[in-house]
Amino acid sequence: MSRKVLVLGEVREGSLRNVSFEAISAAKTVAEGGEVVGVLIGDAVSALGSELIKYGADRVVIVEDEKLKQYTSDGYSQALLAVIDQEKPEGIIIGHTALGKDLSPRIAGKLSSGLISDATAVEVAGGNVVFTRPIYSGKAFEKKIVTDGIIFATVRPNNIAPLEKDESRNGEVASLSVDIKDLRTIIKEVVRKAAEGVDLSEAKVIVSGGRGVKSADGFKPLKELADVLGGAVGASRGACDAEYCDYSMQIGQTGKVVTPDLYIACGISGAIQHLAGMSNSKVIVAINKDPEANIFKVADYGIVGDLFEVVPMLTEEFKKLKVHS
Ligand SMILES: Cc1cc2nc3c(=O)[nH]c(=O)nc-3n(C[C@H](O)[C@H](O)[C@H](O)COP(=O)(O)OP(=O)(O)OC[C@H]3O[C@@H](n4cnc5c(N)ncnc54)[C@H](O)[C@@H]3O)c2cc1C
Repeated sequence: MSRKVLVLGEVREGSLRNVSFEAISAAKTVAEGGEVVGVLIGDAVSALGSELIKYGADRVVIVEDEKLKQYTSDGYSQALLAVIDQEKPEGIIIGHTALGKDLSPRIAGKLSSGLISDATAVEVAGGNVVFTRPIYSGKAFEKKIVTDGIIFATVRPNNIAPLEKDESRNGEVASLSVDIKDLRTIIKEVVRKAAEGVDLSEAKVIVSGGRGVKSADGFKPLKELADVLGGAVGASRGACDAEYCDYSMQIGQTGKVVTPDLYIACGISGAIQHLAGMSNSKVIVAINKDPEANIFKVADYGIVGDLFEVVPMLTEEFKKLKVHS
């Protein structure tokens, strides 16, 4: 059964986040040959419409308004509900990002629909669109289908492969004028933490440090390794609690959930709350002095040793490989 599926493109600092393209790929599966309609909301975002088409959207609807310059659930939900009202889709896919986690339950509530949140895979099986999502902090997976109403889901970043970009694809990019009513919240200013480098939630490689790094300075070799690999630096809560690093780097049950291609855990014991945030990484490397550390149970490769010796050695070897490749 073919369907019309809306996909919200997420814009950050003038660029589309990768999860937007992953959401289009998921929407193609849900559409089963039907139409995939990209949606862009913001202020001056229309130039990005053609990008969504190159990644597989058939056409794009843009809602632009000065009041939508910064994300607010109030403003974005007014805009998205107006698009939904115009398009009457049978499916909606949004990235399971901070924005998606805030916006999607509100939209589902307004539509009186269900919501499958944090899907890591989607397929058509036995005549149904089947979503896979982790439960119990990633210890098990459940399969979900929608039996009635709109198929509405959020997809976890870095799990569903985007379609190949096709520069030759064309499609309509149309504006929808929406009268955004006065917002109950107005964002006056966004003060960003001095975050450097790659965004943790979209990083393909993460080098993470735990209490074993022993100090803020102890993160330096990890940063060097991450830089060589083009990755980001993460942390356990142990390291954050000890004030070695900022809580924005925390990975785990009460931090960020990540699924990079490569996760290198340095001086992290592997508490269940940490594993909840990283155990679905594609390849896990653990470096720990203690051969009994729990982290080795989930690691594909384990190195028993002192991280201050092992990490610089890895950095040097990867540097050499890069020079020769
Ligand atoms: C409700 C709740 C929520 C939580 N949420 C999270 C969460 O989101 N994320 C999270 O991470 N934790 C979370 N925790 C905390 C969690 O239980 C652990 O306390 C924490 O993960 C431990 O951090 P750690 O592994 O860095 O420290 P530790 O457990 O102290 O482990 C340090 C490790 O470093 C190794 N080590 C020491 N020196 C070296 C060296 N030189 N070289 C190599 N290895 C070395 C040690 O052998 C040890 O295994 C939560 C706890 C609770 C109760």
